[in-house]
Amino acid sequence: MDESCIPSANEAEVVTPDESKSTIKSKSIRAAVFHESERALEFCLFPRPQLQRGEALVRITCCTLCGSDLHTISGRRSEPSPSILGHEILGVVEEVSSEPALDVRGDPLKPGDRITWSVCVSCQSCERCRSGLPQKCHHLQKYGHALAEGRFALSGGLAEAILLRADSAIVKVPDELPDHVACPANCATATVMAAFNAIGPVEGKRVLLLGAGLLGLTAVAVARYRGALATVVSDPAPERMELARQFGADQCVEENGFDVVMDFSGSVDAIEAGLEKAGIGARIVLVGSVMKCRDMKLNPEKVIRNCWQIHGIHNYAPADLLDAVRFLNDQHHSYPFADVVSAEFALDRIDHAIQFAEAERPIRVAVRPEVKRAGH
Ligand SMILES: [Zn+2]
Ligand SMILES: [Zn+2]
Repeated sequence: MDESCIPSANEAEVVTPDESKSTIKSKSIRAAVFHESERALEFCLFPRPQLQRGEALVRITCCTLCGSDLHTISGRRSEPSPSILGHEILGVVEEVSSEPALDVRGDPLKPGDRITWSVCVSCQSCERCRSGLPQKCHHLQKYGHALAEGRFALSGGLAEAILLRADSAIVKVPDELPDHVACPANCATATVMAAFNAIGPVEGKRVLLLGAGLLGLTAVAVARYRGALATVVSDPAPERMELARQFGADQCVEENGFDVVMDFSGSVDAIEAGLEKAGIGARIVLVGSVMKCRDMKLNPEKVIRNCWQIHGIHNYAPADLLDAVRFLNDQHHSYPFADVVSAEFALDRIDHAIQFAEAERPIRVAVRPEVKRAGH
């Protein structure tokens, strides 16, 4: 790494963030760097990047910690390091290159735009991109998971700013959408949209959702919005079941014959139990198992005789992100999305944020970089 690491989080005088017009005045950008599990994140200074065609420097206003960040930090999942974690990010464009990036609608970015963007950057021309799986591009880059090295070192959300690569799928975020609601759009919400977009209409269908984390809760709202006849949630934690009820889940009755079964829990036991409740012609979507897990029991005769369709969904395409922001903008008043972030920490207190997230298991905690005064 070519940045300088600073030992203490408290060297610089800080002011609280939230001034949407504030800008980054220093020549270096501060970030919390992950090295390995069981070791505290280290605050480092990175040089402010010189922008090339289609790139943008974005000041991070909010980053929510996703389950996968916590899995990496705790060692349950292995990722390249050193890295700047955090991919559920909301930011404000600080600087654009002379040939500015376009958002997914084709509008040029300009300083001051409030944006989110896909965690995946894809080439848009390889065979996978052309076949509708840009998230599996042969030249894929991902925010929040990359090595903090070279020109693109600033690629994660636990930092003051991030360098957006050319060809990022960027969506402008309406001002009226609160930070805590908009922040998870580019991970949880967009992935849920990809799951629903994969299976087609759910109007009049009976939907079983496994796992009431943020994806499961979001899926309750989407299923209702899209006209599902019944939306039943299964989660072992009573407080999560209560949240699911607040998102509009129907009373969990013992029944079978669901038209749609979606797993967001990642628990193979839960998936096996859920499959027992799938009906004829069911569409089954697996989303949650993104860590090492055991094989699941699946009887092929049952799949065939019941005419099941089984979909695996990992990440999403840019259109799903656009759907996610539209959905949240339309519907966030109707569901308690704003309450899923139960605590907020300054970036300087990232270790407290992680401890809180691991100990309390809230749906989300938010981290906000503090804006340093000019000269630091
Ligand atoms: Zn995530
Ligand atoms: Zn590609």
